Amino acid sequence: MDSVLKDLIAAIADSRIEVIDLTAPLSEKTPIIQLPPPFANTRRFELTQISHYDERGPAWYWNDIATGEHVGTHLDAPIHWITGREQSDVSQIPAQQLIAPAVVIDKSRECANNPDYLLEVSDIEAWQREHGPLPDGGWLLYRTGWDARAGDQHRFLNADDSGPHTPGISVACARWLAEVARVIGVGVETVGTDAGKAHSFDPAFPCHAYLLGAGKYGLTQLANLARVPPTGAILIAGPLPIVHGSGSPARVLALIER
Ligand code: MN
Repeated sequence: MDSVLKDLIAAIADSRIEVIDLTAPLSEKTPIIQLPPPFANTRRFELTQISHYDERGPAWYWNDIATGEHVGTHLDAPIHWITGREQSDVSQIPAQQLIAPAVVIDKSRECANNPDYLLEVSDIEAWQREHGPLPDGGWLLYRTGWDARAGDQHRFLNADDSGPHTPGISVACARWLAEVARVIGVGVETVGTDAGKAHSFDPAFPCHAYLLGAGKYGLTQLANLARVPPTGAILIAGPLPIVHGSGSPARVLALIER
């Protein structure tokens, strides 16, 4: 008897489908965004031990966790931004949208030479001439090589006296992705979906303003995008359904056909 799910599990078991973890490990060392005064900042991820096979719990080990919603590999829900304030919180995202096709645009070479590199509509149009249209209802994943810096907060944020210098997306391209492209969201390797210098753009933080305002999503601090082909992957993103949450740390997996 034919069964799509049986075929899928068999293909995963014999590696015809590879499962790639796009999630950064979550610990007290996970880099966090640093906003300048007077803005408030997120807390780090922290574990507090409850018991460890000891008098507090002789046969069991467990911890409390404390974390910001926007720590490590995480999903931005539309309600995160003022432009999306009437839209979904992270618990309201339809489960069906958490499994979707994904494509990868690789600008890691450009970003190695220019940490302030901005993705433009022309870059995506050139990509589409080679690979076809962006996936309807899917993700655009933007590879910059920045995941190689994720073990070091200083290198990851790459800030100097003029502020952070990390790659992002131009104002026009963010608007195009929100209003024209049929994607459900954008995934990046950096600490946020916007460029380090996007505080100075008009509007400020255009990825957040346009995409979340359009009811779309962001995925940040992705790892291992180098292993995902330009087309053909399926992305599984699992944010916690935090009621009224503006986002959540997420396990993000890519399924790749070999
Ligand atoms: Mn975020």
